[in-house]
Amino acid sequence: MKVWGSDSVLILESPEQQRAGVKERRSAVGRPAQFGWIIALLSLLSACSVFPQGTGFAVTTECILPDDQVDTIPAKWKVLPIPIALESGSGGFPNSEVGPILDAADRWNSHFETVFGVKAFDYGEQNSPRSMSGTRPSDVCSSWVTSGTRYVGNINIYLHSTWIHTSMPTTIALTTTCPNGSGSPQTNVAGLIELNYQNYFVTGKNLPDLESIMTHEFGHLLGLKHSCAVREGDVGPDCDEEGLPTSYLEAVLFPSFRFNEFGAGEVRSDLNENDQGRTNCLYESLKEDD
Ligand SMILES: [Zn+2]
Repeated sequence: MKVWGSDSVLILESPEQQRAGVKERRSAVGRPAQFGWIIALLSLLSACSVFPQGTGFAVTTECILPDDQVDTIPAKWKVLPIPIALESGSGGFPNSEVGPILDAADRWNSHFETVFGVKAFDYGEQNSPRSMSGTRPSDVCSSWVTSGTRYVGNINIYLHSTWIHTSMPTTIALTTTCPNGSGSPQTNVAGLIELNYQNYFVTGKNLPDLESIMTHEFGHLLGLKHSCAVREGDVGPDCDEEGLPTSYLEAVLFPSFRFNEFGAGEVRSDLNENDQGRTNCLYESLKEDD
């Protein structure tokens, strides 16, 4: 039996974020209260400190998996890099949005090259990334993209100008992965990423920071679940839990992204210690080949 999961993003406010919203509204004297922060959530499906990575956090090369997050890395890919392809053509990603998607992939590539000596994602050439123009399969997990230790297909990234997941209208993006087998972690054999260009990313709607969203979704694609749980069925500690470590709340894999009063999305695309530490545990076996 195949077990599969989806990881997405939807609107939700946790007390922590509501407090942030209150603070924001208080500081904006005379501004109507309804223009506070809105929180968007991504939902679920999946050392040593050296020099700063990009503008953000130090590189963590060791496996760090706190007890309350042991269930948050249930499946991984047997082989890296994972080949990805972007929807192109008239219904696909405009050129201006290809860059941020590749930048998000490169955030993971940079980490994986540093720690494991291999890239996480293969998108082809920087100036002409791999593209696709098919329709989304109705049964994602029925066609595997892996065969033994090879890839026989790509993980496709779809732009949906009509969001097909109508039961989740506030979801910004959705990553589906298909774990197979009984190992721990299990092995992913198929998957895809979908972006909601009906209710986000377009004029008149909230505009998430695409690089941040894609860095989050690529984390799911690699096999990471959220840093904390926001919905029934989520694994890991509750995001509202008292005393949750700051590193959980500030992780790229934290389930929510905020929007400001103008509808611009929060920028959070630097992999922090929690993102990196969990990733290092999930792919620790790559090191054993050294
Ligand atoms: Zn998510």
